[in-house]
Amino acid sequence: MPKAPFSASQDILRRVDKTFKAFFGRCKAGKKAGYPRFKSRRRFDSYTFPSYGDGCRLTGTRLYLQGIGHIKVKLHRPVDGVIKTVSVKREAGKWYVCFSVEYAVEALPGIETKVGLDIGLTDFATLSTGETIANPRHSRKAQGQLRIAQRRVARRQRGGRNRRKAVLLLRKAHAHVKNQRADFQHKTARTLVNTYGVIAVEDLNIKGLASGMLAKSVNDAGWSGFLTKLAYKAAEAGRTLIPVDPRGTSQTCLCGAEVRKTLAQRWHQCPDCGLSAARDHVSAQLILGLGLSLLGVT
Ligand SMILES: [Zn+2]
Repeated sequence: MPKAPFSASQDILRRVDKTFKAFFGRCKAGKKAGYPRFKSRRRFDSYTFPSYGDGCRLTGTRLYLQGIGHIKVKLHRPVDGVIKTVSVKREAGKWYVCFSVEYAVEALPGIETKVGLDIGLTDFATLSTGETIANPRHSRKAQGQLRIAQRRVARRQRGGRNRRKAVLLLRKAHAHVKNQRADFQHKTARTLVNTYGVIAVEDLNIKGLASGMLAKSVNDAGWSGFLTKLAYKAAEAGRTLIPVDPRGTSQTCLCGAEVRKTLAQRWHQCPDCGLSAARDHVSAQLILGLGLSLLGVT
C-alpha cells in the first residue's frame, strides 16, 4: 500500500469529524439523527489533497499524486487562478479531478435592467418581462431508462459480477441526468446575470414545498441548485440578487386588490382594475416590486 501524504490523511479525519459533528448536532436539535454510515472501500469515492504542492502537482496535462504517480488529465479548460486544493473523485466508473482555485473576480459593467422571477411548475420560471423559461424535466424524460436500469440491478444476484456491471450502468444513467440539470442551471443563471442588473427571486422554503404533493416537479426543476448558482454568479458579477418572501404574490393583483386563484387557475383576471394576464407573469411583476421596495429600505 503506497503511503498517502500527511495532509491528505488529515483530510479524511476532518471529514469523519464533520460527519460526527453534524450527527451530534442533529441529536441535540432533536431531529432524526441517523448514525453515520461506515464508508467501505467501495463507497469511498473521493480523496482530497488539501494543500496544493503537498503530494500533488499539475504540470501541463500531467498530474502527480503521491502514492499513485503521474496521470494524464484531460483539462476541459485551462486552470484559471492559483490552485488551492485538489480532489480526485470517482463517479459512475470515471475518475475526475477537481481543482479549487483562488482568483480575482471581475464585475460585469453595471446595467439598469431589473427583473422578477416567478418559480413555475409548468414552466421553469416566468420573468416579469413576460418571457418564460421552459422546464427541461430531465429526470422525467429519463425516468423510463432509469427504471429499466434499476430493474436490471434488482434482478441480478447480490454480490455477483453481473450485478456490479448493472450498477455501473445505473450510475451512468443517474450521472447523465445530473449533468444535464447542472448544465441547464449554469446556462440559465448565466444568461440572467448577464442580462439583468437587479434580480428579485422567491425566497422559497424549498423543503416545505418539496415535501408536499408537488414534490416531484419542484425537485425536478432543481430550484435550490439553481438559486445557489444564481447567487454566486450574481455576487461575482456585482449584480444585486434580492430574495423576496413570496407569500401572497400569487393571490394579489398589481393594483393591490386580492384576486384568489386556485393552483389550477393559470389566468389572472382582476375585477378591480380589469388586468388580464398570465398568472405567473403577474406574480413575477409583484416579486420584482417587492424586491425593489426592499432595496429601497436597505
Ligand atoms: Zn387589479
